[in-house]
Amino acid sequence: MKDTWAEILLRRRSNPDTGEYPKPVRELLGEMTAAAVLLQSNIKFDGALILQIWGDGPLKVAVVEVQPDLRVRATAKVIGEVAEDTALSQMINKHHGGRCSITYDPQSRRQGQQPYQGVVPLENDDGVSYERLSDILEQYMRRSEQLDTTMVLGADDVSCAGLLIQRMPIKGQDNLGGEQIEFEEDALDQNEDYKRISILTASLTPHELLNLPADQILHRLYWEERLAHLIQDQAHPLKPHFGCTCSRLRVGAMIQNLGIEEAQSILSEREDIDVSCDFCGANYKFDAVDTAQLFNSPNPQPPSPSVLQ
Ligand SMILES: [Zn+2]
Repeated sequence: MKDTWAEILLRRRSNPDTGEYPKPVRELLGEMTAAAVLLQSNIKFDGALILQIWGDGPLKVAVVEVQPDLRVRATAKVIGEVAEDTALSQMINKHHGGRCSITYDPQSRRQGQQPYQGVVPLENDDGVSYERLSDILEQYMRRSEQLDTTMVLGADDVSCAGLLIQRMPIKGQDNLGGEQIEFEEDALDQNEDYKRISILTASLTPHELLNLPADQILHRLYWEERLAHLIQDQAHPLKPHFGCTCSRLRVGAMIQNLGIEEAQSILSEREDIDVSCDFCGANYKFDAVDTAQLFNSPNPQPPSPSVLQ
């Protein structure tokens, strides 16, 4: 994934308030972007998938949101310096308080209905921090969804990419070869075929993932397996693309949520309430007249759940 990732990096670099992300943050956010697109493509779900890391080191939060049409936006909030060789655990799980969450936010969510969210720590049961995002997400899938999952992720300044293998836990369904297979051991870690595929998958390096064409990777890894190409809609294949869901309406709703007193107290110190979108850099200004109008009209829609406050 090149264009989408380039757009995300460019928007951040051209934001004079932040400048570009430190290298370890770029790598993490790139891998998160690849992973979130893979996970969204892999489920049939009519809503946004939001992958978030809540860090307790210099990285406070990193968010990637992917819509069903693979529209992607991503951002991260970093406080303080992050050296080029900072380990992942030092950046996000320094005090063993970091968390990773995946939220499924249905498009047709009713007012008051909560989106579905799973949360996992950034370390194993023995309190040892993971040093790769793929390990964190594999663990998420095992704990939260009871799915054997193997992931290889990579990101640099040019592109981000991922390979996702999941064992579908469906008894007696056709497998890719079309034969009826009864899984006797449908529990985690029990399926020998999955284990073999998983070991092959894990042998792929991030460097290979980022630099080799997809067909070559599949051929190289699984040359002894039968491969079936499953393409959902060849006429209109979904391609990841950058797109932000922020709008003046949503920012207005956010100001309404602050309450009239808070809004007026901001306006007593400055000319406008000035809100910049962390995802795309768009700027929204509400002066005293705009703000008064907001509080004279009914709440148009709830603010986006994932906008950073
Ligand atoms: Zn935006």
